[in-house]
Amino acid sequence: MPKPRHADLTDHKARKRFGQNFLVDDNIIDKIVAAIHPKDGDNLIEIGPGQGALTRPLLEHCPQLQVVELDRDLAALLTDKFHSYADFKLHQGDALKTDFLQFKRGEAPLRIVGNLPYNISTPLIFHLLNYAGNVSDMHFMLQKEVVDRLAAAPGDKTYGRLTVMAQYHCQVEPLFIVPPGSFHPTPKVQSAIVRLLPYKQPPYAATDPKLLHKLVSACFQQRRKTLRNSLKHFATAEQLATLEIDLSLRPEVLTVKDFVELSNQLAMHPL
Ligand code: SAM
Repeated sequence: MPKPRHADLTDHKARKRFGQNFLVDDNIIDKIVAAIHPKDGDNLIEIGPGQGALTRPLLEHCPQLQVVELDRDLAALLTDKFHSYADFKLHQGDALKTDFLQFKRGEAPLRIVGNLPYNISTPLIFHLLNYAGNVSDMHFMLQKEVVDRLAAAPGDKTYGRLTVMAQYHCQVEPLFIVPPGSFHPTPKVQSAIVRLLPYKQPPYAATDPKLLHKLVSACFQQRRKTLRNSLKHFATAEQLATLEIDLSLRPEVLTVKDFVELSNQLAMHPL
């Protein structure tokens, strides 16, 4: 049985609508913090600090930690709990609507971490990918199924829009699994820690990243259909005939490189 760190758990009633599952396993907390390796001077941001299970050890290494928490009650609790850390900054608000560039201090890139609320983890990752150029690394706790999707290979059942866009921007490293018993309340699913390392220069660069995103979204909305079908709204039949790709393929077998090449070819002849 994991040993709970009772000092950081209060009688706050976990709110399901905010995806609140609090970490209570000291060994897992230590393992996550070791993987993050926070240092004094880092531009470190924690999303969803909750009752501070990760926040406290992060602050011990990086006193200028900034956090974003949606729950007003928890925001008040955290302000009180960490008032002795003069450089600690809490932003009460929705991480999905937060402009992460506001957290930049000087030239150092952002480091973003969090045991993310599972109900919004996919849109949140898409939101954060917009800042990839200003971020050196991200460490997240997610449902294991979402980590599998992030790290999937072409042809895998979970390979999709999230996979392609995350792997376009970042190197994806699944780190370790976290069992349900490490949380209170106990979730129904397995969790896992993933490290995302944004590329300074993507290995395959899209000339029009917005088009790439649109293309990937359209393809995976109809993952069972062929490319010929999914690409109808992107090119005329004549243009499609000139593309250097087999149009009878399904999108789920295309690599990130294939998607980028396809997007770059389509960008040369916009409709
Ligand atoms: N970090 C804490 C821990 O590990 O024990 C709590 C993690 S809990 C899974 C997710 C946290 O994200 C909760 O504190 C929740 O209130 C917060 N949260 C939920 N939605 C949010 C949002 N849109 N923006 C910022 N924080 C959010």
